[in-house]
Amino acid sequence: MKAAMWYGRKDIRIVDAPLPELPPGHVLIRVAWAGICGTDRHEYTGPNFIPVTKPHRLTGRTAPLILGHEFAGIIAETGPGVEHWRRGDRVTANGTLSCGACEACRRGRYNICEKLGFVGVSRDGAFAEYVSIEAARLFPVPPGLSLRHAVLAEPLACGLHAARLLGDISGRDVAVVGPGVIGLACFFASREAGAGRILVAGMGNARRELVESCGGVYVDAGAENLREAVRARFGGAADIAYECVGLQSSLDSCLDILKPSGALMVMGVYEKPPVFRMNDFQEGERRLFTSQAHVDEIAPALGLLAGGAVDAERLITGEVTLDTLVRNGFEELLAHGEAHIKVLIRIGGE
Ligand SMILES: [Zn+2]
Ligand SMILES: [Zn+2]
Repeated sequence: MKAAMWYGRKDIRIVDAPLPELPPGHVLIRVAWAGICGTDRHEYTGPNFIPVTKPHRLTGRTAPLILGHEFAGIIAETGPGVEHWRRGDRVTANGTLSCGACEACRRGRYNICEKLGFVGVSRDGAFAEYVSIEAARLFPVPPGLSLRHAVLAEPLACGLHAARLLGDISGRDVAVVGPGVIGLACFFASREAGAGRILVAGMGNARRELVESCGGVYVDAGAENLREAVRARFGGAADIAYECVGLQSSLDSCLDILKPSGALMVMGVYEKPPVFRMNDFQEGERRLFTSQAHVDEIAPALGLLAGGAVDAERLITGEVTLDTLVRNGFEELLAHGEAHIKVLIRIGGE
């Protein structure tokens, strides 16, 4: 089968790989569509999480491996012991891999497993014609929702998880710094959680129309001082700030706009460890949250997409194939990342 195999930094090869094995409890999925995640982009210029020399603590794998954890497709075959799924079922999956035995796993918080791994990072993933996934990790794609759009459920679930970790945010003024797909997922999740005013800040105006037509306030942080913009829109500072960029400057911006006792949710992935202004933060008893992937949020995310609360098509800004993945996918995202929300890979889909 055709697959995008990660060999090293900026070395992704389109290869002819053997079909994945189908261990007990797994299904073989014919991938229709996959999505390029920020995580994948970090691996392209990384490695970041992909094990290169030391085998992964859960899977035992090292590179080379097939990328990809955001996908949707059709079950082609069910492995031994799989009962509730049939060939032909339309599915997407939670790409989290966990041990099932550690304290976090036993408490149902498998997204913070001490041996945490991901499909497409810690073992072979879905940038391929077929992927093998544990049946317990599958979700049915609701009738009426296309496989193309179902790919957006995974990033949306990341936002739903973050909003859930913040507790009751109804009526709260929210600022999202970074209007990439994760920032937008936090925006939609906050809106669904009943937040008050929601401001999204980014560089340039590419996201303005989307945010404003979905009920948010957009600020071009390249043209306006963010602290003043937040004060003008909220009449004060923000109750909640989501940091969705992963840069020192965006972290600083979030600290600048956060009320005393406000909550900072860090979603960004930092290639360079930031300096955290702890004294400014501590002074106001501000609270720091982090969020890792998602737990049981893919099903509600599919619900938001299927019900039309979130229009997946507006989040898709590019489409490539496995053959054009490197040049028109990864290289394009490196060169013009701010122009994109989600770039999809058409594999077997239509
Ligand atoms: Zn992802
Ligand atoms: Zn575990």
